[in-house]
Amino acid sequence: MSWLQRLREGLSKTRENIAKSVPWNRDPEEVLEELEYALISADVGVEATQEVIEEVRASGKKDLREALKQALVVQLEPDLLRAKLRKVGLFNRGNIQKTTIEPAGQVILMVGVNGVGKTTTIAKLGQYYQSRGKKVMFCAGDTFRAAGGAQLGIWGERIGVPVIQGPEGSDPAALAYDAAMARKARGMDLLLVDTAGRLHTKHNLMEELVKVKRSIAKADPGEPGEVWLVLDAVTGQNGLEQAKKFNEAVGLTGVVVTKLDGTAKGGVLVPIVRELGVPIKFIGIGEAATDLQPFDAGEFVEALLG
Ligand code: GDP
Repeated sequence: MSWLQRLREGLSKTRENIAKSVPWNRDPEEVLEELEYALISADVGVEATQEVIEEVRASGKKDLREALKQALVVQLEPDLLRAKLRKVGLFNRGNIQKTTIEPAGQVILMVGVNGVGKTTTIAKLGQYYQSRGKKVMFCAGDTFRAAGGAQLGIWGERIGVPVIQGPEGSDPAALAYDAAMARKARGMDLLLVDTAGRLHTKHNLMEELVKVKRSIAKADPGEPGEVWLVLDAVTGQNGLEQAKKFNEAVGLTGVVVTKLDGTAKGGVLVPIVRELGVPIKFIGIGEAATDLQPFDAGEFVEALLG
Protein backbone atom coordinates (compact mmCIF):
# COMPACT_ATOMS: atom_id res chain seq x y z
CA MET A 1 0.00 0.00 0.00
CA SER A 2 1.31 3.47 -0.85
CA TRP A 3 1.90 6.11 1.80
CA LEU A 4 -1.13 8.06 0.57
CA GLN A 5 -3.39 5.06 0.92
CA ARG A 6 -2.05 4.39 4.40
CA LEU A 7 -2.51 8.03 5.33
CA ARG A 8 -6.11 7.92 4.15
CA GLU A 9 -6.69 4.78 6.15
CA GLY A 10 -4.95 6.24 9.20
CA LEU A 11 -7.14 9.33 9.10
CA SER A 12 -10.33 7.39 8.49
CA LYS A 13 -11.90 8.05 11.90
CA THR A 14 -11.52 11.81 11.55
CA ARG A 15 -12.52 11.78 7.88
CA GLU A 16 -15.63 9.67 8.42
CA ASN A 17 -16.83 11.89 11.25
CA ILE A 18 -16.55 14.98 9.07
CA ALA A 19 -18.11 13.23 6.07
CA LYS A 20 -21.02 11.93 8.16
CA SER A 21 -21.99 15.28 9.60
CA VAL A 22 -21.53 17.64 6.67
CA PRO A 23 -24.34 17.65 4.06
CA TRP A 24 -22.16 18.86 1.17
CA ASN A 25 -25.02 19.03 -1.34
CA ARG A 26 -27.36 21.24 0.66
CA ASP A 27 -27.65 24.97 0.96
CA PRO A 28 -24.20 26.54 1.55
CA GLU A 29 -25.16 28.17 4.87
CA GLU A 30 -26.41 24.84 6.15
CA VAL A 31 -23.18 23.18 5.05
CA LEU A 32 -21.07 25.83 6.78
CA GLU A 33 -22.99 25.47 10.01
CA GLU A 34 -22.47 21.72 10.16
CA LEU A 35 -18.91 22.12 9.01
CA GLU A 36 -18.20 24.41 11.94
CA TYR A 37 -19.33 21.73 14.40
CA ALA A 38 -17.45 19.02 12.53
CA LEU A 39 -14.16 20.94 12.54
CA ILE A 40 -14.44 21.79 16.22
CA SER A 41 -15.20 18.13 17.01
CA ALA A 42 -12.07 17.19 15.09
CA ASP A 43 -10.04 19.49 17.41
CA VAL A 44 -9.26 22.14 14.81
CA GLY A 45 -9.90 24.73 17.54
CA VAL A 46 -12.50 27.49 17.72
CA GLU A 47 -10.36 30.36 16.47
CA ALA A 48 -9.00 28.54 13.43
CA THR A 49 -12.41 27.01 12.66
CA GLN A 50 -14.09 30.41 12.56
CA GLU A 51 -11.36 31.76 10.35
CA VAL A 52 -11.64 28.83 7.98
CA ILE A 53 -15.43 29.06 7.79
CA GLU A 54 -15.23 32.79 7.06
CA GLU A 55 -12.72 32.16 4.33
CA VAL A 56 -14.82 29.49 2.68
CA ARG A 57 -17.85 31.80 2.81
CA ALA A 58 -15.90 34.76 1.45
CA SER A 59 -14.35 32.71 -1.34
CA GLY A 60 -17.73 32.63 -3.10
CA LYS A 61 -16.70 29.24 -4.49
CA LYS A 62 -19.47 26.81 -5.43
CA ASP A 63 -17.30 23.87 -4.49
CA LEU A 64 -17.20 24.36 -0.74
CA ARG A 65 -15.08 21.27 -0.16
CA GLU A 66 -12.38 22.62 -2.45
CA ALA A 67 -12.49 26.02 -0.73
CA LEU A 68 -12.21 24.27 2.62
CA LYS A 69 -9.13 22.34 1.51
CA GLN A 70 -7.42 25.56 0.48
CA ALA A 71 -8.30 27.30 3.73
CA LEU A 72 -7.02 24.36 5.79
CA VAL A 73 -3.72 24.14 3.95
CA VAL A 74 -3.06 27.77 4.90
CA GLN A 75 -3.67 26.89 8.57
CA LEU A 76 -1.20 24.02 8.37
CA GLU A 77 1.69 25.79 6.64
CA PRO A 78 3.55 28.13 8.99
CA ASP A 79 4.67 30.36 6.10
CA LEU A 80 1.19 30.79 4.66
CA LEU A 81 -0.34 31.21 8.09
CA ARG A 82 2.18 33.88 9.03
CA ALA A 83 1.38 35.86 5.89
CA LYS A 84 -2.33 35.52 6.51
CA LEU A 85 -2.19 36.49 10.19
CA ARG A 86 -0.12 39.51 9.30
CA LYS A 87 -2.64 40.61 6.75
CA VAL A 88 -5.49 40.50 9.25
CA GLY A 89 -3.37 42.08 11.98
CA LEU A 90 -3.42 38.92 14.09
CA PHE A 91 0.26 38.15 13.86
CA ASN A 92 1.43 38.12 17.44
CA ARG A 93 2.84 34.69 17.88
CA GLY A 94 6.54 35.27 17.51
CA ASN A 95 8.49 33.52 14.86
CA ILE A 96 6.45 31.05 12.93
CA GLN A 97 9.15 28.93 11.39
CA LYS A 98 9.62 27.61 7.93
CA THR A 99 8.95 23.97 7.19
CA THR A 100 11.86 21.94 5.98
CA ILE A 101 12.65 18.29 6.49
CA GLU A 102 16.38 18.80 6.23
CA PRO A 103 17.44 19.34 9.84
CA ALA A 104 19.19 22.60 10.70
CA GLY A 105 22.46 21.50 12.25
CA GLN A 106 23.53 18.01 13.13
CA VAL A 107 21.89 17.32 16.47
CA ILE A 108 18.16 16.88 17.03
CA LEU A 109 17.02 16.93 20.64
CA MET A 110 13.84 14.88 20.92
CA VAL A 111 11.42 15.69 23.75
CA GLY A 112 7.96 14.53 24.80
CA VAL A 113 6.14 12.75 27.60
CA ASN A 114 6.35 8.99 28.06
CA GLY A 115 4.16 6.84 25.91
CA VAL A 116 3.72 9.23 23.00
CA GLY A 117 5.95 7.10 20.79
CA LYS A 118 9.19 9.03 21.21
CA THR A 119 11.57 6.07 21.14
CA THR A 120 9.84 4.49 18.17
CA THR A 121 9.85 7.85 16.39
CA ILE A 122 13.59 8.30 16.95
CA ALA A 123 14.19 4.86 15.46
CA LYS A 124 11.98 5.65 12.46
CA LEU A 125 13.67 9.03 11.93
CA GLY A 126 17.05 7.33 12.14
CA GLN A 127 16.00 4.94 9.44
CA TYR A 128 14.53 7.75 7.33
CA TYR A 129 17.69 9.86 7.36
CA GLN A 130 19.93 6.82 7.00
CA SER A 131 18.04 5.80 3.88
CA ARG A 132 18.82 9.28 2.53
CA GLY A 133 22.53 8.70 2.94
CA LYS A 134 23.18 10.25 6.34
CA LYS A 135 25.41 8.65 8.94
CA VAL A 136 23.14 8.58 11.99
CA MET A 137 23.85 8.10 15.69
CA PHE A 138 21.50 7.82 18.67
CA CYS A 139 21.92 8.93 22.27
CA ALA A 140 19.78 6.92 24.71
CA GLY A 141 19.28 9.94 26.95
CA ASP A 142 16.32 8.57 28.88
CA THR A 143 18.59 7.24 31.62
CA PHE A 144 15.70 7.33 34.07
CA ARG A 145 13.95 4.41 32.37
CA ALA A 146 16.19 1.40 31.84
CA ALA A 147 13.70 0.03 29.32
CA GLY A 148 13.92 3.20 27.25
CA GLY A 149 17.66 2.81 26.72
CA ALA A 150 17.36 -0.89 26.02
CA GLN A 151 14.61 -0.31 23.46
CA LEU A 152 16.67 2.24 21.55
CA GLY A 153 19.67 -0.12 21.78
CA ILE A 154 17.67 -2.87 20.10
CA TRP A 155 16.51 -0.52 17.36
CA GLY A 156 20.05 0.69 16.83
CA GLU A 157 21.29 -2.85 16.38
CA ARG A 158 18.47 -3.71 14.03
CA ILE A 159 19.03 -0.77 11.69
CA GLY A 160 22.79 -0.43 12.15
CA VAL A 161 22.88 2.86 14.04
CA PRO A 162 25.44 3.27 16.87
CA VAL A 163 23.85 4.12 20.22
CA ILE A 164 25.56 6.07 23.00
CA GLN A 165 24.25 4.66 26.26
CA GLY A 166 24.90 5.26 29.94
CA PRO A 167 24.06 3.29 33.06
CA GLU A 168 20.55 3.59 34.45
CA GLY A 169 20.19 6.68 36.61
CA SER A 170 23.26 8.39 35.18
CA ASP A 171 23.25 12.11 34.40
CA PRO A 172 21.49 12.64 31.05
CA ALA A 173 23.24 15.99 30.49
CA ALA A 174 26.66 14.34 30.84
CA LEU A 175 25.61 11.56 28.49
CA ALA A 176 24.34 14.04 25.90
CA TYR A 177 27.68 15.89 26.15
CA ASP A 178 29.57 12.64 25.50
CA ALA A 179 27.28 11.80 22.59
CA ALA A 180 27.70 15.23 20.99
CA MET A 181 31.51 14.88 21.31
CA ALA A 182 31.35 11.34 19.91
CA ARG A 183 29.33 12.50 16.90
CA LYS A 184 32.04 14.99 16.01
CA ALA A 185 34.88 12.55 16.66
CA ARG A 186 33.31 9.86 14.50
CA GLY A 187 32.23 12.23 11.75
CA MET A 188 28.55 11.27 11.92
CA ASP A 189 26.06 13.51 10.10
CA LEU A 190 23.19 13.39 12.53
CA LEU A 191 22.74 12.70 16.24
CA LEU A 192 19.25 12.05 17.59
CA VAL A 193 19.10 12.54 21.35
CA ASP A 194 16.35 10.77 23.28
CA THR A 195 15.27 12.31 26.60
CA ALA A 196 13.21 11.38 29.63
CA GLY A 197 9.49 11.99 29.53
CA ARG A 198 8.31 11.30 33.05
CA LEU A 199 5.86 13.90 34.28
CA HIS A 200 5.34 13.27 37.96
CA THR A 201 8.53 13.05 39.96
CA LYS A 202 10.38 15.30 42.32
CA HIS A 203 12.95 16.16 39.68
CA ASN A 204 11.75 18.77 37.30
CA LEU A 205 11.70 17.38 33.80
CA MET A 206 11.89 20.78 32.13
CA GLU A 207 14.94 21.83 34.15
CA GLU A 208 16.64 18.60 33.19
CA LEU A 209 15.89 19.17 29.50
CA VAL A 210 17.32 22.68 29.68
CA LYS A 211 20.53 21.20 31.14
CA VAL A 212 20.71 18.57 28.42
CA LYS A 213 20.28 21.23 25.75
CA ARG A 214 22.96 23.40 27.33
CA SER A 215 25.48 20.59 27.59
CA ILE A 216 25.00 19.70 23.91
CA ALA A 217 25.79 23.35 23.09
CA LYS A 218 28.88 23.17 25.27
CA ALA A 219 30.17 20.11 23.41
CA ASP A 220 29.17 21.42 19.99
CA PRO A 221 28.47 25.17 19.78
CA GLY A 222 25.34 25.99 17.78
CA GLU A 223 23.78 22.60 18.46
CA PRO A 224 21.19 21.25 18.90
CA GLY A 225 20.07 22.80 15.63
CA GLU A 226 16.64 21.31 16.18
CA VAL A 227 14.41 20.54 19.16
CA TRP A 228 11.47 18.40 18.14
CA LEU A 229 8.50 17.53 20.30
CA VAL A 230 6.80 14.19 19.82
CA LEU A 231 3.08 14.59 20.40
CA ASP A 232 0.43 11.89 20.51
CA ALA A 233 -2.60 12.97 18.45
CA VAL A 234 -4.91 10.96 20.70
CA THR A 235 -4.24 13.37 23.58
CA GLY A 236 -5.67 16.24 21.50
CA GLN A 237 -5.96 19.58 23.27
CA ASN A 238 -4.29 18.23 26.43
CA GLY A 239 -1.20 17.49 24.43
CA LEU A 240 -1.24 21.05 23.21
CA GLU A 241 -1.00 22.39 26.75
CA GLN A 242 2.01 20.12 27.37
CA ALA A 243 3.52 21.30 24.13
CA LYS A 244 3.39 24.92 25.27
CA LYS A 245 5.34 24.03 28.42
CA PHE A 246 8.03 22.25 26.42
CA ASN A 247 8.17 25.20 24.03
CA GLU A 248 8.69 27.67 26.88
CA ALA A 249 11.44 25.54 28.42
CA VAL A 250 13.52 24.41 25.46
CA GLY A 251 12.28 26.34 22.41
CA LEU A 252 10.78 23.88 19.95
CA THR A 253 11.69 24.03 16.27
CA GLY A 254 9.33 21.29 15.11
CA VAL A 255 6.71 18.77 16.09
CA VAL A 256 6.24 15.12 15.17
CA VAL A 257 2.63 13.99 15.58
CA THR A 258 2.15 10.26 16.19
CA LYS A 259 -0.85 7.94 16.41
CA LEU A 260 -2.99 9.82 13.93
CA ASP A 261 -4.36 6.39 13.09
CA GLY A 262 -5.99 6.08 16.49
CA THR A 263 -7.91 9.32 16.69
CA ALA A 264 -10.99 11.12 15.43
CA LYS A 265 -9.23 14.36 16.37
CA GLY A 266 -6.86 14.60 13.43
CA GLY A 267 -7.63 18.32 13.22
CA VAL A 268 -5.37 18.93 16.22
CA LEU A 269 -2.52 19.65 13.81
CA VAL A 270 -4.09 23.04 13.13
CA PRO A 271 -3.88 24.42 16.69
CA ILE A 272 -0.38 22.93 17.03
CA VAL A 273 0.90 25.05 14.16
CA ARG A 274 -1.13 28.06 15.28
CA GLU A 275 -0.37 28.07 19.00
CA LEU A 276 3.26 26.98 18.87
CA GLY A 277 4.21 28.65 15.64
CA VAL A 278 6.37 25.68 14.72
CA PRO A 279 6.04 23.39 11.71
CA ILE A 280 4.84 19.81 11.82
CA LYS A 281 7.90 17.91 10.58
CA PHE A 282 6.67 14.32 10.39
CA ILE A 283 3.46 12.43 11.09
CA GLY A 284 3.06 8.87 12.33
CA ILE A 285 0.09 6.73 11.39
CA GLY A 286 1.12 3.32 12.69
CA GLU A 287 3.76 1.22 14.34
CA ALA A 288 5.71 0.09 11.27
CA ALA A 289 8.94 1.87 10.33
CA THR A 290 7.42 3.23 7.12
CA ASP A 291 4.39 4.64 8.95
CA LEU A 292 6.29 7.82 9.72
CA GLN A 293 6.62 10.28 6.84
CA PRO A 294 7.41 13.96 6.27
CA PHE A 295 4.35 16.11 6.74
CA ASP A 296 2.79 17.64 3.65
CA ALA A 297 -0.20 19.90 4.31
CA GLY A 298 -1.78 19.42 0.88
CA GLU A 299 -1.51 15.67 1.09
CA PHE A 300 -2.88 15.68 4.63
CA VAL A 301 -5.91 17.79 3.78
CA GLU A 302 -6.60 15.65 0.72
CA ALA A 303 -6.54 12.50 2.84
CA LEU A 304 -8.74 14.14 5.44
CA LEU A 305 -11.49 15.41 3.16
CA GLY A 306 -11.24 12.91 0.31
P1 GDP B 1 7.82 6.48 24.38
O1 GDP B 1 7.46 6.09 25.78
O2 GDP B 1 7.33 7.85 24.06
O3 GDP B 1 9.25 6.29 24.04
O4 GDP B 1 6.93 5.54 23.44
P2 GDP B 1 7.29 4.25 22.57
O5 GDP B 1 8.17 4.61 21.44
O6 GDP B 1 7.73 3.17 23.46
O7 GDP B 1 5.84 3.93 21.95
C1 GDP B 1 4.70 3.65 22.72
C2 GDP B 1 3.73 2.82 21.89
O8 GDP B 1 3.16 3.61 20.85
C3 GDP B 1 4.39 1.62 21.21
O9 GDP B 1 3.54 0.51 21.32
C4 GDP B 1 4.51 2.09 19.75
O10 GDP B 1 4.54 1.01 18.84
C5 GDP B 1 3.26 2.92 19.60
N1 GDP B 1 3.30 3.89 18.50
C6 GDP B 1 4.30 4.78 18.19
N2 GDP B 1 3.95 5.54 17.12
C7 GDP B 1 2.70 5.14 16.74
C8 GDP B 1 1.78 5.54 15.70
O11 GDP B 1 2.02 6.46 14.90
N3 GDP B 1 0.58 4.88 15.66
C9 GDP B 1 0.27 3.87 16.53
N4 GDP B 1 -0.92 3.27 16.43
N5 GDP B 1 1.10 3.48 17.51
C10 GDP B 1 2.30 4.09 17.62
